[in-house]
Amino acid sequence: MSLDLVLFGGTGDLAWRKLMPALFQAFRHGTLPAQTRIVGIARDDMDDDAYRALIRARFTQVELDKQPAQGEFDRFAALLHFVRLDLSQTGDYARLVGFLAQRPAQTVVMYVATAPTLFTTVCEQLAAAGLNKSHVRIVLEKPLGHDLASNRAINEAVRRAFSERQVFRIDHYLGKPSVQNLFALRFGNALFEPLWRRENIANIQITIAEDLGVEKRGSFYDGTGALRDMVQNHALQLLCAIGMEPPINAHADAIRDEKLKVLRSLTPWTEHTLTQHVVRGQYAAGTVQGAAVVAYRDEPGVAAQSVTETFVALRTEIANWRWAGVPFYLRTGKRLAARDASIVVNFRPAPHAIFDVPAGAANRLVINLQPRDGLELHLLALGQSGRRQSAALAPVQLDLDFDRRFGAERVGAYERLLLDVIDGRLNLFVRSDEQEAAWRWVEPLLDAWKASGDAPRAYAGGTWGPSAASAMIARDGHCWAEEC
Ligand code: NAP
Repeated sequence: MSLDLVLFGGTGDLAWRKLMPALFQAFRHGTLPAQTRIVGIARDDMDDDAYRALIRARFTQVELDKQPAQGEFDRFAALLHFVRLDLSQTGDYARLVGFLAQRPAQTVVMYVATAPTLFTTVCEQLAAAGLNKSHVRIVLEKPLGHDLASNRAINEAVRRAFSERQVFRIDHYLGKPSVQNLFALRFGNALFEPLWRRENIANIQITIAEDLGVEKRGSFYDGTGALRDMVQNHALQLLCAIGMEPPINAHADAIRDEKLKVLRSLTPWTEHTLTQHVVRGQYAAGTVQGAAVVAYRDEPGVAAQSVTETFVALRTEIANWRWAGVPFYLRTGKRLAARDASIVVNFRPAPHAIFDVPAGAANRLVINLQPRDGLELHLLALGQSGRRQSAALAPVQLDLDFDRRFGAERVGAYERLLLDVIDGRLNLFVRSDEQEAAWRWVEPLLDAWKASGDAPRAYAGGTWGPSAASAMIARDGHCWAEEC
């Protein structure tokens, strides 16, 4: 098969930090089609060799150290080409048309890794240039807009140029091996399904915590915030994966139909829940792993009086027969105590105690997404005091480390997703109606924050966020996983 992978934003941060390393790994593993060209697009004036040198210089030593054989990067670099193009200039697209026409490929992937303000123009111009035929696929990076209206406008522009089966909306969390294993755990094993419901589950917690601050992306982040950056997409996609009904088969639309139902079943916001079930925070100065860190407002690119949230914790419910009344807690933030993305399923305690059970002890399933990738099942077992059997139960843990089990060379999220685009597999990509439902649900929060004008609650860098997040969950009689 022959492939042209056109990378709009070919010199950008995402391209050299994530996409090129992922393509290099796919090349090393022999999973790229034999006749592949990777075409970087940006406004710089450079030739193929200069582009290859740029990518080589930006590759970290970590990537290059993974090379089993000398010269492997050079063989990969031979696939790289560069076409200068200003995406806002309609006349420039002819250069891309000319380049692709030199060797018509069986599959063409247009990966749009530029600001979303360019998405509409790119789609219109690709269609005008005839680069939207059925062998062309388009990949769109988040964020697809900054609210429901802008998201719809982009989706409509995309729809005018491409059919839905040509469109691959990336949410790279879905490409993580642990998220795919969550689908396997739920729909490939019969063990948990009878337990996976309100009768047995006390609450579910989804945490995406970063210990890093905004790094060099202060000005981007200040116009975005944690709700748009993490909750609207990644956290809600994880919520869908954990809460959806079993799909009728493993095809993309069967899976996406079920995810959409979850998004549509989320309890609508009310005046009460907007104040009682949401905590918004912003990091102040603090200490992370022994090092002093500055406040968000002192980060480069961030406004001195910024009211952008770097932390959100919220409580919601999925209003259907399986989940009615079960709280789902979502939490994400920057400069928190640890880098940890996980889903914690807290089961209800045994209904009748014949042993001494430590207060609050119950079974728990933890799905670790990062930095570890695996499953923990927390059980209770009879402890021992000296040579005598104790009547008290003690917590024990079954621990499955997927990295150790399957090797550290597992396919990374971007590599997995790029290979799926090349193969035309849509299962791990988000449909436009899912995105719109997610925006519709988060928008009342954005509106309420804007109307109130209040600043987010400050939390010290290196902690688990504002204490109000603990108070929120404590009102339900629960606690965050690290607190109990
Ligand atoms: P970036 O570092 O600013 O790179 C932007 C790229 O687009 C550059 O290659 C730039 O090259 C090119 N570009 C900008 N305007 C152009 C134009 N008019 N014509 C042609 N090329 C143009 O941005 P990024 O961080 O890579 O992010 C790209 C997109 O991915 C954004 O929407 C971002 O939100 C999203 N994203 C990024 C990350 C990440 O980790 N970086 C993660 C998830 C999503 P020239 O300026 O030289 O033309």
